[in-house]
Amino acid sequence: MVVLSSPPMQDRHNTAELLSTIQKQAFQLGSRGLFVFDLDSTLFDVSPRLERILMDYAALPEHQTRFPESCEILKNIRMLRSDWGIKNALIRAGLDDHHAEFHDSIKAFWKKTFFSSEYLHYDIPYEGAVEFVQKVAGFGCEIAYLTGRDVHRMGRGSDEVLRKWSFPLSIPKAQLVLKPQAGMDDAEFKTNWFRAIPYEAYDKIWFFENEPVNVNRVAQHLDHIEIVFFHSTHSGQQEAPENIPRIVNYLLK
Ligand SMILES: [Mg+2]
Repeated sequence: MVVLSSPPMQDRHNTAELLSTIQKQAFQLGSRGLFVFDLDSTLFDVSPRLERILMDYAALPEHQTRFPESCEILKNIRMLRSDWGIKNALIRAGLDDHHAEFHDSIKAFWKKTFFSSEYLHYDIPYEGAVEFVQKVAGFGCEIAYLTGRDVHRMGRGSDEVLRKWSFPLSIPKAQLVLKPQAGMDDAEFKTNWFRAIPYEAYDKIWFFENEPVNVNRVAQHLDHIEIVFFHSTHSGQQEAPENIPRIVNYLLK
């Protein structure tokens, strides 16, 4: 069971107002508008994926033999909306730096599973996300899912999970854009993708993203893109600028 902390009422109110304004613009623009969405922690809550990874780790006999106490604690661990990766959840559960071998082992397991097509199936869209994307696509706007996931490890699962939840996906009107190689820098990959769009192709481009590093890079180099910061969780390396709009879900009321 994933426990998500609710965003404050004020944030929800601002979110609804902003989304409503954007929808009106989308309606007027039709095919002259492009909506670009990040996936992890922007359209999809990855907390269930993280919880499943911890459960599956704890269920393996080899881990139970090596780390019996830690595996017992993992069975009751809960993720929060603000968790980025598994580190904070482990610290909250008391599984901190005293267990170095355990940490190496679970980190290796996390890396293998988190970046896999199979585990993407545990992700759940944020409230209103499917309906919001369907709505703007219905107005004729083009859609792109621009993700730091790579084709090789997560391409198949990304495609399957978008379809499973009924997110629009039909090339060329709604496309999935993944990194061709895993090692590429996310912010650079996304910025370059935007740069390749001919300036005259759209009257307006929106970019929904939860990671401030990506937000800041795109904002710095491409000032014609309307960025919407999705306030969920992020790496903590940078903060999103205060002057860009932020939302906490995709609900219009
Ligand atoms: Mg993300």
